[in-house]
Amino acid sequence: MGATIPESGNADDYETGGWRSERPLRDIEKCNDCMICFFACPESSIRVENDKMVDFDMKHCKGCGICKQVCPRDAIEMMNEIKACKLEEK
Ligand code: SF4
Ligand code: SF4
Repeated sequence: MGATIPESGNADDYETGGWRSERPLRDIEKCNDCMICFFACPESSIRVENDKMVDFDMKHCKGCGICKQVCPRDAIEMMNEIKACKLEEK
């Protein structure tokens, strides 16, 4: 079985958030905006404004947990996607 990739692409082109099973949540009290997660995220999903981390881009975040692994301040937790969606609905 094979596949053809007609054109090159990058993380901006592929909305990998659709099949995420976990999502990152940031504790803003612990985060010091060091941006290590920004450089480590393979999906360019760390949103930054004015040199500060503001959010995760959930259209592109695939829930890999790399941001949690590299965060030196343990400011990121991974949460089950279904649980997170239910919390958002409330
Ligand atoms: S790596 Fe951790 S402390 Fe640094 S910006 Fe990201 S969440 Fe904040
Ligand atoms: S879970 Fe993975 S894709 Fe999502 S923000 Fe963290 S490093 Fe990026």
